[in-house]
Amino acid sequence: MISERAKKVKPSATLSIDTKAKEMKAAGINVISFAVGEPDFDTPDNIKAAAIKAINDGFTKYTPVGGIPELKNAIAGKLKKDNALDYKPNEILVSVGAKHSLYNAAQALYSEGDEVIIPAPYWVSYPDQTLLNDAVPVIVETKEEDSFVLAPEQLAKAVTKKTKAIVLNYPSNPTGFTYDKKALEAIAEIAVKNNIYVISDEIYEMLLYDGRKHISIASIDPEIKKLTIVINGFSKSHAMTGWRIGYAAGDAAVIKAMENIQSQSTSNPASISQKAALEAATGPQDFIAVMVREFDKRRKYLVEELNKIEGVSCRMPQGAFYAFANIKEYMGKKSAKMTVKDSSDMALYLLEEAAVALVPGSAFGAEGYIRMSYATSMAKITEGLNRIKTALAKLA
Ligand SMILES: *Cc1c(COP(=O)(O)O)cnc(C)c1O
Repeated sequence: MISERAKKVKPSATLSIDTKAKEMKAAGINVISFAVGEPDFDTPDNIKAAAIKAINDGFTKYTPVGGIPELKNAIAGKLKKDNALDYKPNEILVSVGAKHSLYNAAQALYSEGDEVIIPAPYWVSYPDQTLLNDAVPVIVETKEEDSFVLAPEQLAKAVTKKTKAIVLNYPSNPTGFTYDKKALEAIAEIAVKNNIYVISDEIYEMLLYDGRKHISIASIDPEIKKLTIVINGFSKSHAMTGWRIGYAAGDAAVIKAMENIQSQSTSNPASISQKAALEAATGPQDFIAVMVREFDKRRKYLVEELNKIEGVSCRMPQGAFYAFANIKEYMGKKSAKMTVKDSSDMALYLLEEAAVALVPGSAFGAEGYIRMSYATSMAKITEGLNRIKTALAKLA
């Protein structure tokens, strides 16, 4: 029978709602999905061309486990230019998506009984990856009025002798909020004092609005840099979710351990995808600004319209492509068929009543919210909002 370890894990909630919506679509129902977790833009042509060239050149064999040297150098160059971080190639590991980088870090760092602090709302995979590595997720709920940013006092209170790491994600999926320098400094100080690793998931760094600039916690000082594993990748910044290239940067000993683990599991990420990522890292970057401008328009429209709906409130997100709306006023209300007790019921109600797919806050450890991705067209956002408004008006 299956292992105790496998029994601890549940399937990714965001992926399962997307699956249900796809099934309805396949059955001919016009579903509008706000559940997607990837840019609705196509991978830029120069990146595709680099991949096609790799195939035609016969670059189709095993590569070094942790990535080709040119790609590691390009990533080091990016970390220097964008984040003021110095990493040598042996402090960088290229993996099969940022999710794989996160998993390798969990495998390399956590031992049985270690505690891992995860601020909620969190990205769905953090608690399960922690459990899969025999460690204990310690969930700390952040507050909406704090823009869902972990307060230093909250962190200090959660730290014990068993604390091994804290997982940060900024800009955040699902909230869209990010950490400024002051908030990061406060966390870094506590982490250094208690010798706690920081897993810093910065996959949305390029998707920031209103002129905000991303700061990596690793850039605050050399002490916190030594304790930080920076996680990033090309999925969100270059619309490359299917290519599966992510990376980690950190202390050479930790990266080496991660690489050993990768050498015994996946080996190298796809050779062709690495060439595509090399082009993504070193080629023209104007695509990103175009994408961000479009997301920005949708962000403002979606959030302004959400706030016009009776009983719904949504703070203006600062980054990523999600709106995290408060629907607490609807908890306990009834339709003809069901009582909407929690955010899961709300997601189910909206899917069945309005053919609108979105993800309940409970999937991210935050009850009373829904996450709506605006990685979809303006026309669909408008139609989806109308449907939601009509469906919510039927609840009493
Ligand atoms: C999408 C996402 C990832 C995973 O990215 P991949 O490179 O596609 O594996 C990691 N963290 C967060 C918060 C994400 O939203």
